[in-house]
Amino acid sequence: MQTVPEKWRDTPSDRVDEKGAPAPWEGQTLFQRNGTGAPAKGASDAASPEEVSGKGAEAERESLMMELTRLVQRTVKESSWWERRGIDCAILAAAFLTLPVAFYLLSSSQVLLFALGMLVMGVAHGIITIKGTHLASHGSLSESQAWGEFWAVFFIEVCGSFTARTGVQAHIKMHHAHTNVIGLGDSSTWKAPFLPRSIYLFIAPLAMPIMTPLVALGQLKDHSLALALRTVLMVALGVYSQYWLLLHVSGFQSPASALLCMLVCRAMFSMPYIHVNIFQHIGLPMFSPTRRPKRIYQMTHGVLNLPRNPLLDWIFGHSLINCHVEHHLFPFLSDNMCLKVKPIVSKYLKERELPYQEDSYVSRLRLFFHRYQEFMVYAPPITELVGVQ
Ligand SMILES: [Zn+2]
Repeated sequence: MQTVPEKWRDTPSDRVDEKGAPAPWEGQTLFQRNGTGAPAKGASDAASPEEVSGKGAEAERESLMMELTRLVQRTVKESSWWERRGIDCAILAAAFLTLPVAFYLLSSSQVLLFALGMLVMGVAHGIITIKGTHLASHGSLSESQAWGEFWAVFFIEVCGSFTARTGVQAHIKMHHAHTNVIGLGDSSTWKAPFLPRSIYLFIAPLAMPIMTPLVALGQLKDHSLALALRTVLMVALGVYSQYWLLLHVSGFQSPASALLCMLVCRAMFSMPYIHVNIFQHIGLPMFSPTRRPKRIYQMTHGVLNLPRNPLLDWIFGHSLINCHVEHHLFPFLSDNMCLKVKPIVSKYLKERELPYQEDSYVSRLRLFFHRYQEFMVYAPPITELVGVQ
């Protein structure tokens, strides 16, 4: 048990949602610009609401989080639009622009060109559905709320075959708001304890392209009829357009071969996707919903960065790979801005002897493989960062 100073403990006014119950979605916009989602226009560099609102604001004003926020804020203000959003939008645009090339290469009868087409389409699909859906779920692709919602539906539903409502709710309102809090943001949705470790880690992820729309269908019962209908249409549009293009542009001879090609392209990065999602939180301190530490301690203890990796940096985005700590502290920043503030954040945390957790992909994989039961099957123990109950 680790005991911590009183100042590490969270106060009720700091919390996003004390009971953890998400607000009813119906009738709300996809993003609450003054809530836990993306910030209001013009306030993109301000501290998150839990630091600045409510009775605790005075006490929080000079907190570590506020001090760090000011440092990050300065960098954001000095950054151009290109740095803040342009680079990431350009990477996504480049992914879309490679799609015609991929469809063309897939029409080739030469094995190498055909394989290159698969690779190009798989990488493009990875960038669009991992980096794109993640940034879109945070509303990071536009400063306009309406465009933010449009991009969320486009990336999550049309490209990602999932429901935008559930995706945003699970990622923003639960995972980010309640990172590593037991029963709320403890990453337990990623667990499949009935699967043996080798199946879970290396085989099951390949079924993600099939499982994702099926899980989305299961979520529709909680949607209004109009929302459910929209989601079904958007998911069908995304799946069918790729299928149609493979038959009519790439010249696939049979529906089965087109579907197999779609499965291979869509599953190309699903294994690292599952790995990254579990590596960066599970096995780290977990907190009690009633006694969780302040945000800066919650995020520095409960989040881990992987090293830079050219392939994963592009496909997943810095915020999911080597800047995950920065992303959890400042979730409104784009991938490129997370990378830009990384030296500031790491220096600040290290100077104040706060954790700045980093580990390699292979090391985490080894750890999860050898301690699979402990991490992925049994319930995680509560870390007593929160002190004596
Ligand atoms: Zn995120």
